[in-house]
Amino acid sequence: MNIIKYYSVNNDCYKNNVNQADSRYTTFQQRGPKGLMLHSVGCSQSSAKVFADSWNRSGKEVAVHAVLQADGTVYHCLPWNFRGWHAGGEANNTHVGVEMTEPDCIKYASGASFTCSDKAKAQVQVKGTYETAVELFAYLCKQYNLDPAADGVIISHREGNKRGVASNHGDPEHLWNQLGMGYTMDGFRRDVKAAMAESGEGTAPSNPSADNEQMYRVRKAWDDPKSQTGAFRVLENAKRACTEGYTVYDKDGNAVYTNAAAGSYKVKITASVLNIRKGPGTNYAVSGQIKDKGVYTIVEESTGTGATLWGKLKSGAGWISLDYATKV
Ligand SMILES: [Zn+2]
Repeated sequence: MNIIKYYSVNNDCYKNNVNQADSRYTTFQQRGPKGLMLHSVGCSQSSAKVFADSWNRSGKEVAVHAVLQADGTVYHCLPWNFRGWHAGGEANNTHVGVEMTEPDCIKYASGASFTCSDKAKAQVQVKGTYETAVELFAYLCKQYNLDPAADGVIISHREGNKRGVASNHGDPEHLWNQLGMGYTMDGFRRDVKAAMAESGEGTAPSNPSADNEQMYRVRKAWDDPKSQTGAFRVLENAKRACTEGYTVYDKDGNAVYTNAAAGSYKVKITASVLNIRKGPGTNYAVSGQIKDKGVYTIVEESTGTGATLWGKLKSGAGWISLDYATKV
Protein backbone atom coordinates (compact mmCIF):
# COMPACT_ATOMS: atom_id res chain seq x y z
CA MET A 1 0.00 0.00 0.00
CA ASN A 2 1.30 3.39 -0.94
CA ILE A 3 -0.64 6.31 0.51
CA ILE A 4 -0.22 9.52 -1.45
CA LYS A 5 -1.26 12.69 0.33
CA TYR A 6 -3.43 14.52 -2.16
CA TYR A 7 -5.76 16.74 -0.16
CA SER A 8 -8.76 18.23 -1.93
CA VAL A 9 -7.91 21.72 -0.70
CA ASN A 10 -10.19 23.43 -3.24
CA ASN A 11 -13.20 21.25 -2.43
CA ASP A 12 -16.11 22.88 -0.55
CA CYS A 13 -16.34 20.10 2.02
CA TYR A 14 -12.61 20.33 2.72
CA LYS A 15 -12.94 24.10 3.21
CA ASN A 16 -15.93 23.62 5.51
CA ASN A 17 -13.72 21.43 7.66
CA VAL A 18 -10.88 23.94 7.72
CA ASN A 19 -13.31 26.77 8.54
CA GLN A 20 -15.19 24.52 11.00
CA ALA A 21 -18.40 25.63 9.27
CA ASP A 22 -20.77 24.03 11.76
CA SER A 23 -20.96 21.51 14.57
CA ARG A 24 -21.09 18.52 12.21
CA TYR A 25 -17.51 19.30 11.18
CA THR A 26 -16.20 20.14 14.63
CA THR A 27 -17.86 17.09 16.14
CA PHE A 28 -16.27 14.76 13.60
CA GLN A 29 -12.90 16.42 14.04
CA GLN A 30 -12.99 16.12 17.81
CA ARG A 31 -14.36 12.60 17.94
CA GLY A 32 -12.58 11.11 14.92
CA PRO A 33 -14.11 8.41 12.74
CA LYS A 34 -16.55 5.98 14.39
CA GLY A 35 -16.56 3.73 11.36
CA LEU A 36 -15.46 3.23 7.76
CA MET A 37 -17.67 3.03 4.68
CA LEU A 38 -16.53 1.12 1.62
CA HIS A 39 -17.60 2.41 -1.79
CA SER A 40 -16.96 1.55 -5.39
CA VAL A 41 -16.96 4.46 -7.83
CA GLY A 42 -19.66 3.07 -10.14
CA CYS A 43 -17.95 4.02 -13.36
CA SER A 44 -15.31 2.46 -15.57
CA GLN A 45 -12.22 4.36 -14.54
CA SER A 46 -9.28 2.61 -12.92
CA SER A 47 -7.22 5.70 -12.08
CA ALA A 48 -7.67 7.10 -8.57
CA LYS A 49 -6.03 10.38 -9.55
CA VAL A 50 -8.77 11.10 -12.09
CA PHE A 51 -11.35 11.06 -9.29
CA ALA A 52 -9.16 12.92 -6.83
CA ASP A 53 -8.63 15.67 -9.38
CA SER A 54 -12.31 15.89 -10.30
CA TRP A 55 -13.30 16.37 -6.64
CA ASN A 56 -10.59 18.90 -5.86
CA ARG A 57 -12.62 21.83 -7.13
CA SER A 58 -14.46 24.78 -5.74
CA GLY A 59 -18.22 24.18 -5.97
CA LYS A 60 -17.80 20.44 -5.35
CA GLU A 61 -19.20 19.17 -2.09
CA VAL A 62 -18.64 15.47 -2.78
CA ALA A 63 -15.55 14.55 -0.79
CA VAL A 64 -14.20 11.12 0.12
CA HIS A 65 -11.26 10.49 2.40
CA ALA A 66 -9.46 8.24 -0.04
CA VAL A 67 -9.66 6.70 -3.50
CA LEU A 68 -7.69 3.54 -4.09
CA GLN A 69 -6.65 1.49 -7.08
CA ALA A 70 -5.68 -2.09 -7.86
CA ASP A 71 -1.91 -1.63 -7.61
CA GLY A 72 -2.05 -0.61 -3.94
CA THR A 73 -1.98 3.14 -4.54
CA VAL A 74 -4.21 5.18 -2.23
CA TYR A 75 -4.94 8.84 -2.94
CA HIS A 76 -5.58 10.39 0.47
CA CYS A 77 -7.92 13.32 -0.24
CA LEU A 78 -9.27 14.33 3.18
CA PRO A 79 -7.60 14.03 6.60
CA TRP A 80 -9.11 11.00 8.33
CA ASN A 81 -10.55 13.20 11.07
CA PHE A 82 -12.37 15.51 8.66
CA ARG A 83 -16.08 15.08 7.96
CA GLY A 84 -16.60 13.84 4.41
CA TRP A 85 -19.52 13.92 1.99
CA HIS A 86 -19.78 10.48 0.45
CA ALA A 87 -22.74 8.62 1.93
CA GLY A 88 -25.72 10.77 1.08
CA GLY A 89 -26.95 10.38 4.65
CA GLU A 90 -26.14 10.39 8.34
CA ALA A 91 -23.06 8.20 7.84
CA ASN A 92 -21.20 11.33 6.70
CA ASN A 93 -21.24 12.39 10.35
CA THR A 94 -19.64 9.20 11.60
CA HIS A 95 -17.84 7.30 8.86
CA VAL A 96 -14.72 7.78 6.78
CA GLY A 97 -15.50 7.20 3.09
CA VAL A 98 -13.20 5.17 0.84
CA GLU A 99 -13.80 4.63 -2.87
CA MET A 100 -12.38 1.75 -4.87
CA THR A 101 -11.85 2.44 -8.57
CA GLU A 102 -13.29 0.04 -11.16
CA PRO A 103 -11.93 -1.70 -14.26
CA ASP A 104 -11.75 0.19 -17.54
CA CYS A 105 -13.09 -2.84 -19.40
CA ILE A 106 -16.59 -2.67 -17.93
CA LYS A 107 -19.37 -0.55 -19.38
CA TYR A 108 -22.41 0.54 -17.40
CA ALA A 109 -25.67 -0.04 -19.23
CA SER A 110 -28.34 1.25 -16.88
CA GLY A 111 -28.21 1.79 -13.16
CA ALA A 112 -25.78 -0.59 -11.52
CA SER A 113 -25.70 -3.23 -14.25
CA PHE A 114 -22.81 -3.38 -16.67
CA THR A 115 -21.25 -5.44 -19.42
CA CYS A 116 -17.60 -6.48 -19.38
CA SER A 117 -15.31 -6.93 -22.38
CA ASP A 118 -12.59 -8.85 -20.49
CA LYS A 119 -13.86 -10.61 -17.40
CA ALA A 120 -10.53 -12.18 -16.44
CA LYS A 121 -8.78 -8.81 -16.52
CA ALA A 122 -11.59 -7.17 -14.57
CA GLN A 123 -11.41 -9.87 -11.90
CA VAL A 124 -7.67 -9.36 -11.43
CA GLN A 125 -8.23 -5.67 -11.02
CA VAL A 126 -11.11 -6.02 -8.57
CA LYS A 127 -9.03 -8.46 -6.54
CA GLY A 128 -6.36 -5.75 -6.38
CA THR A 129 -8.72 -3.03 -5.18
CA TYR A 130 -10.26 -5.41 -2.62
CA GLU A 131 -6.86 -6.28 -1.19
CA THR A 132 -5.78 -2.65 -1.08
CA ALA A 133 -9.03 -1.82 0.75
CA VAL A 134 -8.41 -4.60 3.29
CA GLU A 135 -4.95 -3.22 3.99
CA LEU A 136 -6.14 0.38 4.29
CA PHE A 137 -9.10 -0.52 6.53
CA ALA A 138 -6.85 -2.58 8.79
CA TYR A 139 -4.49 0.39 9.06
CA LEU A 140 -7.36 2.77 9.90
CA CYS A 141 -8.97 0.39 12.40
CA LYS A 142 -5.68 0.23 14.25
CA GLN A 143 -5.12 3.96 14.10
CA TYR A 144 -8.61 4.81 15.40
CA ASN A 145 -9.09 1.81 17.65
CA LEU A 146 -12.05 0.46 15.66
CA ASP A 147 -13.23 -3.15 15.85
CA PRO A 148 -13.89 -4.33 12.29
CA ALA A 149 -16.23 -7.05 13.55
CA ALA A 150 -18.42 -4.73 15.65
CA ASP A 151 -21.88 -3.93 14.32
CA GLY A 152 -21.98 -0.94 11.98
CA VAL A 153 -18.28 -0.09 12.14
CA ILE A 154 -17.26 -1.29 8.68
CA ILE A 155 -20.15 -1.05 6.25
CA SER A 156 -20.60 -0.75 2.52
CA HIS A 157 -22.59 2.05 0.95
CA ARG A 158 -25.25 -0.57 0.21
CA GLU A 159 -25.38 -1.68 3.85
CA GLY A 160 -25.50 1.96 4.93
CA ASN A 161 -28.63 2.39 2.86
CA LYS A 162 -30.23 -0.63 4.50
CA ARG A 163 -29.43 0.84 7.90
CA GLY A 164 -30.97 4.17 6.91
CA VAL A 165 -27.75 6.16 7.04
CA ALA A 166 -26.86 6.34 3.32
CA SER A 167 -28.46 6.96 -0.05
CA ASN A 168 -29.82 4.19 -2.26
CA HIS A 169 -26.67 2.78 -3.87
CA GLY A 170 -25.60 -0.83 -4.36
CA ASP A 171 -21.83 -0.39 -4.16
CA PRO A 172 -19.52 -2.14 -3.93
CA GLU A 173 -21.41 -5.43 -3.79
CA HIS A 174 -22.94 -4.82 -7.23
CA LEU A 175 -19.46 -4.99 -8.74
CA TRP A 176 -18.33 -8.08 -6.83
CA ASN A 177 -21.56 -9.95 -7.58
CA GLN A 178 -21.69 -9.24 -11.31
CA LEU A 179 -18.07 -10.24 -11.78
CA GLY A 180 -18.55 -13.41 -9.71
CA MET A 181 -15.81 -12.47 -7.24
CA GLY A 182 -17.36 -14.34 -4.31
CA TYR A 183 -16.65 -11.37 -2.04
CA THR A 184 -19.09 -10.30 0.68
CA MET A 185 -18.96 -7.56 3.30
CA ASP A 186 -18.88 -10.19 6.05
CA GLY A 187 -15.85 -11.69 4.35
CA PHE A 188 -14.32 -8.24 3.99
CA ARG A 189 -14.69 -7.56 7.71
CA ARG A 190 -13.09 -10.92 8.50
CA ASP A 191 -10.21 -10.17 6.12
CA VAL A 192 -9.63 -6.77 7.75
CA LYS A 193 -9.53 -8.39 11.16
CA ALA A 194 -7.06 -11.00 9.92
CA ALA A 195 -4.89 -8.31 8.35
CA MET A 196 -4.79 -6.45 11.67
CA ALA A 197 -3.65 -9.56 13.48
CA GLU A 198 -0.93 -10.16 10.90
CA SER A 199 0.46 -6.65 11.02
CA GLY A 200 0.26 -6.75 14.82
CA GLU A 201 2.84 -9.49 14.86
CA GLY A 202 4.82 -7.30 12.55
CA THR A 203 8.02 -9.12 11.94
CA ALA A 204 7.16 -12.60 13.11
CA PRO A 205 9.01 -14.88 10.74
CA SER A 206 6.74 -16.27 8.04
CA ASN A 207 9.23 -19.03 7.37
CA PRO A 208 10.82 -20.40 10.52
CA SER A 209 13.47 -22.40 8.66
CA ALA A 210 17.05 -22.04 9.83
CA ASP A 211 18.30 -19.87 6.98
CA ASN A 212 15.58 -17.33 7.65
CA GLU A 213 15.75 -17.37 11.41
CA GLN A 214 14.44 -14.31 13.16
CA MET A 215 16.59 -12.61 15.76
CA TYR A 216 15.54 -9.62 17.83
CA ARG A 217 18.31 -7.32 18.95
CA VAL A 218 17.98 -4.69 21.66
CA ARG A 219 19.94 -1.54 20.88
CA LYS A 220 19.74 2.22 21.27
CA ALA A 221 19.84 2.52 17.50
CA TRP A 222 20.26 -0.05 14.73
CA ASP A 223 23.41 1.59 13.46
CA ASP A 224 24.91 1.56 16.95
CA PRO A 225 25.75 -2.16 17.46
CA LYS A 226 27.94 -1.37 20.47
CA SER A 227 24.83 -0.34 22.39
CA GLN A 228 23.35 -3.85 22.03
CA THR A 229 22.25 -5.31 25.36
CA GLY A 230 20.89 -8.61 24.08
CA ALA A 231 19.68 -10.74 21.15
CA PHE A 232 16.61 -12.99 21.37
CA ARG A 233 14.74 -15.45 19.21
CA VAL A 234 11.46 -14.65 20.93
CA LEU A 235 10.10 -11.14 20.53
CA GLU A 236 8.43 -11.10 23.95
CA ASN A 237 11.76 -11.82 25.61
CA ALA A 238 13.41 -9.02 23.68
CA LYS A 239 10.65 -6.63 24.73
CA ARG A 240 11.14 -7.55 28.38
CA ALA A 241 14.85 -6.83 28.08
CA CYS A 242 14.24 -3.52 26.34
CA THR A 243 14.77 -0.80 28.93
CA GLU A 244 13.96 2.86 28.58
CA GLY A 245 15.62 4.53 25.62
CA TYR A 246 16.20 1.21 23.83
CA THR A 247 14.54 -0.34 20.77
CA VAL A 248 13.98 -3.91 19.62
CA TYR A 249 15.08 -4.46 16.00
CA ASP A 250 14.35 -7.47 13.80
CA LYS A 251 17.07 -9.19 11.81
CA ASP A 252 16.68 -6.66 8.99
CA GLY A 253 17.04 -3.67 11.28
CA ASN A 254 13.37 -2.72 11.39
CA ALA A 255 12.32 -1.25 14.73
CA VAL A 256 9.53 -3.44 16.11
CA TYR A 257 9.26 -2.06 19.65
CA THR A 258 10.58 0.98 21.46
CA ASN A 259 10.69 1.74 25.14
CA ALA A 260 10.75 5.48 24.67
CA ALA A 261 12.03 7.87 27.27
CA ALA A 262 9.19 9.66 29.06
CA GLY A 263 7.37 12.07 26.77
CA SER A 264 8.93 10.83 23.57
CA TYR A 265 8.17 7.95 21.25
CA LYS A 266 9.20 6.53 17.89
CA VAL A 267 7.15 6.53 14.73
CA LYS A 268 7.55 4.85 11.38
CA ILE A 269 6.84 7.13 8.41
CA THR A 270 4.16 5.74 6.08
CA ALA A 271 4.33 8.31 3.27
CA SER A 272 6.90 8.02 0.47
CA VAL A 273 7.65 11.71 0.72
CA LEU A 274 6.80 13.63 3.87
CA ASN A 275 7.42 17.34 4.35
CA ILE A 276 9.19 18.58 7.45
CA ARG A 277 7.90 21.99 8.48
CA LYS A 278 9.21 24.71 10.74
CA GLY A 279 6.11 24.54 12.92
CA PRO A 280 3.07 22.32 13.59
CA GLY A 281 0.90 23.07 10.55
CA THR A 282 0.84 23.36 6.77
CA ASN A 283 0.97 27.14 7.22
CA TYR A 284 4.62 26.81 8.28
CA ALA A 285 7.43 26.72 5.72
CA VAL A 286 8.81 23.39 4.51
CA SER A 287 12.28 22.89 5.95
CA GLY A 288 13.02 19.43 4.56
CA GLN A 289 11.61 16.09 3.46
CA ILE A 290 11.65 12.52 4.72
CA LYS A 291 11.89 10.02 1.89
CA ASP A 292 13.10 6.83 3.56
CA LYS A 293 9.90 5.73 5.37
CA GLY A 294 12.22 5.38 8.34
CA VAL A 295 11.77 5.43 12.10
CA TYR A 296 11.98 8.80 13.87
CA THR A 297 11.66 9.99 17.44
CA ILE A 298 8.90 12.44 18.33
CA VAL A 299 9.50 14.59 21.40
CA GLU A 300 6.46 16.87 21.36
CA GLU A 301 2.94 16.93 19.92
CA SER A 302 0.76 19.80 18.78
CA THR A 303 -2.54 20.15 16.96
CA GLY A 304 -2.07 22.13 13.80
CA THR A 305 -4.48 23.57 11.26
CA GLY A 306 -7.40 21.35 10.38
CA ALA A 307 -7.11 19.45 13.67
CA THR A 308 -4.21 17.37 12.38
CA LEU A 309 -1.80 16.16 15.03
CA TRP A 310 1.83 17.18 14.45
CA GLY A 311 4.96 15.80 16.01
CA LYS A 312 8.30 17.52 16.65
CA LEU A 313 11.33 15.57 15.49
CA LYS A 314 14.00 14.90 18.10
CA SER A 315 16.70 15.89 15.60
CA GLY A 316 15.42 19.46 15.67
CA ALA A 317 14.76 19.36 11.92
CA GLY A 318 11.15 20.49 12.47
CA TRP A 319 7.63 19.09 12.62
CA ILE A 320 5.81 16.37 10.67
CA SER A 321 2.12 15.50 10.29
CA LEU A 322 1.44 12.36 12.33
CA ASP A 323 -1.25 11.40 9.77
CA TYR A 324 1.67 9.86 7.89
CA ALA A 325 3.35 8.02 10.71
CA THR A 326 2.51 5.06 12.93
CA LYS A 327 3.83 4.49 16.41
CA VAL A 328 6.33 1.69 16.74
ZN1 LIG B 1 -20.98 4.73 -2.76
